[in-house]
Amino acid sequence: MRFLELQEQNDDLWEHVHSLIIGSSIKAVILAYSDNAGISRVKTIPAQRLRSAARFGVGMSPVFDAFLFNDSITSSEFSGGPMGELRLLPDLSELKVLESSPGWAFVPVERFKQNLESHPLCHRQFARRVYNSLCEDGVTSKMAFEIEWSVSDDLEDEFTPACSGPAYSLDRVGELDEYVLDIYNALEVQQVGVEQIHPEYAPGQLEISIEATDPIRAADLSVLVKHTIKTVSKRHGLRVSFAPVVTEDGVGNGGHLHVSLQDNGDPIFRSFPGEPYDMSSKARSLIAGLIQELPALCALGASSPASYLRLVPHHWAGAFRCWGIDNREAALRFVKETKLVSRDGANLEIKPFDLSSSPYLAVGGVLAVARAYLNRGLFPPEPVVNDPGTFDELKRKDLGVEQLPTSLEEAVAAIVNSDVLKSALGEELLTAFVAVKEAEIELTRTMDAKEIVTATRWRY
Ligand code: GLU
Ligand code: MG
Repeated sequence: MRFLELQEQNDDLWEHVHSLIIGSSIKAVILAYSDNAGISRVKTIPAQRLRSAARFGVGMSPVFDAFLFNDSITSSEFSGGPMGELRLLPDLSELKVLESSPGWAFVPVERFKQNLESHPLCHRQFARRVYNSLCEDGVTSKMAFEIEWSVSDDLEDEFTPACSGPAYSLDRVGELDEYVLDIYNALEVQQVGVEQIHPEYAPGQLEISIEATDPIRAADLSVLVKHTIKTVSKRHGLRVSFAPVVTEDGVGNGGHLHVSLQDNGDPIFRSFPGEPYDMSSKARSLIAGLIQELPALCALGASSPASYLRLVPHHWAGAFRCWGIDNREAALRFVKETKLVSRDGANLEIKPFDLSSSPYLAVGGVLAVARAYLNRGLFPPEPVVNDPGTFDELKRKDLGVEQLPTSLEEAVAAIVNSDVLKSALGEELLTAFVAVKEAEIELTRTMDAKEIVTATRWRY
């Protein structure tokens, strides 16, 4: 039983965590999980209560499974209403002392019923369940979210880029040097492996790449890193947005997911000379499966009505349902093993995803597709060369390249028709998730692009 397993693991870790808490003068702990609207919901407790929280959990209403991004509340057969109580049980193995918020620690939680059974709408347990079943077949995975964000100059609601330097420019780093250094420092102290931070294309936009790690931790880190960046920003008098778009025109913020898999330790994306596309049959079949399931995966990974203002051609967001080798307009960008990219470094980047989504649903959805398709021996179409957005209709038809959903409504229609994702999520989680998405679609139905941007800009 997961509750007892986690409780026992927390017991084993307690001495270590206790000395960390004392040694770092921690006064309070954030207990966090992600909801269907892609928002991190929390309880906080004084540090003295962590011991008891790690054994018995902390109470919280299940109503948040029915919350929308604007805090209005819907309902479904399995969510909503004033009744019920869940326990949030922290996973102490992922507790981090927050350098960016002195006196605070952060820990992800899983949610359980009062009778210790798993709460069927807990995203972290969904991802873990799917991952465990892959691992039982000898398949492991490493993942990493790339996090893009927009930095605004003040705490006003309008977006005012905090720097004027050009895209990717030295000037932009010069303008924000102390800020960027504080982010590096906070994450280093928090023992988060950072690969790089660079100025991105859009005004005031930056990006951070995090080291690949096991998929559940990759989702935990996505939440932690966003929080860390937000608190460092606040100390610099800056306001930041991880929303898919902060202005109605221009390039948005992605949350690309890099994925690699190992078959009994052997990287499936390494080069297999002599095989079609120099790829393993598992890699080919997974890519074919992902292309099949991408419209449905968009509901989980590009989860806001605003996501579809970002997911458009020519924005490097991966708006086309295809794969390509280092093609940044293809939804799946394959990063091959080369003389400079190790066999372990070869990976697949899923570009349509953004940070308005629950990272656990995004990760779990991809793992579910892997579980369903790895061994099917499927063949993907040819990798696409060049920007499919420049191909005429006829050529796209010829290559079988369609555009991905252009609205959340289309993505939701795809997920309710995906047998793979339906059975992985289970009826309760799918129903509660779809209820929130349908309510968000209704909420924004009559809004124009500018109004959607304004409604979502500071929510993620
Ligand atoms: N900002 C782009 C997006 O919305 C991605 C740019 C890049 O390839 O890193 O996904
Ligand atoms: Mg980028």
